[in-house]
Amino acid sequence: MSVDLTLSALDLAAQLRAGTITSVELTEACFARIDAFDGDVRAFVSLDREGALATAREVDEARTRGADLHPLAGVPIAVKDNMVTRGQDTTCCSRILAGWKPPYDATVIRKLKDAKLPIVGKTNMDEFAMGSSTEHSCYGPTHNPWDLDRIPGGSGGGSAAAVSAFFVPLALGSDTGGSIRQPGAVTGTVGVKPTYGAVSRYGLIAMASSLDQIGPVTRTVADAAALQELIGGHDSFDSTSLDEPVPALGQAVEDADLAGLTLGVVKQASGEGFDPEVTRLFAQTVERLREAGATVEEVDCPSFEYALAAYYLIMPAEVSSNLARFDGIRYGARFEPDEGPVTAETVMAATREKGFGDEVKRRLILGTHVLSAGYYDAYYGSAQKVRTLVQRDLDNAFARVDALVLPTSPTTAFKLGERTDDPMAMYMCDIATIPANLAGIPAMSLPVGCSGEDGLPVGFQVMAPARQDATMYRVAAVVEGVSDDVAGTCPAAAWKEAE
Ligand code: GLN
Repeated sequence: MSVDLTLSALDLAAQLRAGTITSVELTEACFARIDAFDGDVRAFVSLDREGALATAREVDEARTRGADLHPLAGVPIAVKDNMVTRGQDTTCCSRILAGWKPPYDATVIRKLKDAKLPIVGKTNMDEFAMGSSTEHSCYGPTHNPWDLDRIPGGSGGGSAAAVSAFFVPLALGSDTGGSIRQPGAVTGTVGVKPTYGAVSRYGLIAMASSLDQIGPVTRTVADAAALQELIGGHDSFDSTSLDEPVPALGQAVEDADLAGLTLGVVKQASGEGFDPEVTRLFAQTVERLREAGATVEEVDCPSFEYALAAYYLIMPAEVSSNLARFDGIRYGARFEPDEGPVTAETVMAATREKGFGDEVKRRLILGTHVLSAGYYDAYYGSAQKVRTLVQRDLDNAFARVDALVLPTSPTTAFKLGERTDDPMAMYMCDIATIPANLAGIPAMSLPVGCSGEDGLPVGFQVMAPARQDATMYRVAAVVEGVSDDVAGTCPAAAWKEAE
């Protein structure tokens, strides 16, 4: 039987269990498709054929022996290049980490290896996860499989493009302000930011530690639930990890119905800045949810208006502290000054000057400034107060409704190069995703249709209270049920390998 890469991860896993395909065949099919089309998409920055095929062979052998395997064993996965993988390049798509091979595995990588998912490679991203278009990568941009002239979102555009181009059924991303969800929205894939602490951050190269969270990138809600169950759970290596059992997310998807649920439509996530087609598809989906039995009411979150500004003070402050470790001495690249004495200080300065790109430098300067003695209270202190107000808005909303719904990205995928000279326009991409990071609550994006203007996918976002990821999945599964199949209509579905 030939391998159909347009199937979901769970369907492929069922075929593996039934013995109609093997993991080696499936993994080889992924590499063949990557070889044929990734020259155009550029989703991957490194591949590990040998390692992935070795895992696939192990799974096939274990299955023949009748061994007890994880339900996703043998299903190939891609990983964003900011999660450390032992002995494999891990660069955060920055020149400063060129050549660094980590001596250990991130907890999520260890879990993938324990469950025997072949890790096919590492995916492209904005340098150190700073950006919304994957154009700030030292490897050059990734192209959106829906239209190769457009951005795949960011910072995790590589993982989203790999899943939307049917290179792999599963990928991991990281979301600090929207980097899983916004790429999901503009590539027609499902992207989840779990509750803060639900998935270990150990081995995720930190951008802003109080906001970062690893999560699934898939084409179906059920696949995302299965992957979150695999990577989630308490980890003593991450002091912010939640010490509680992983919720039954797959069950929540199976039992999905809206009986007794009240959904809140966020008043602030519409109007100016939101494409009319994004707003139309959002309203159409809400109407269908109402028909499916949900009670819907409008909720007011007045502080959302200031969330973006607060994020662009808190995030750079944390960035400036986290990135201090890249000094040309401990990891990766090391540059010496072009002239003058070679001292620890001049090597550090030259390495940072040559190793970091412009967007990273912009944020380091901003972060250092807002933390400086004279400005700390005015900027960083005020931003932390706004963060509390956003959390209070959400607490008030969740006292009345079970989940919030809002668009993910205010626009569909824009053209490559269109916003590279306009950081503010780039920052606006995350206006509707950032509140969830500031509050630590779970949020996910899933495709609900394509714009009548440009034919590109539009994402719909579901947010739930902290530690109620199961409620988010339950609502998302119903949304998926009332929406058309978007991922399957991606032009990449018709890309056929040249004979
Ligand atoms: N686009 C946002 C930023 O540039 C979000 C990044 C992220 O979530 N990693 O900061």
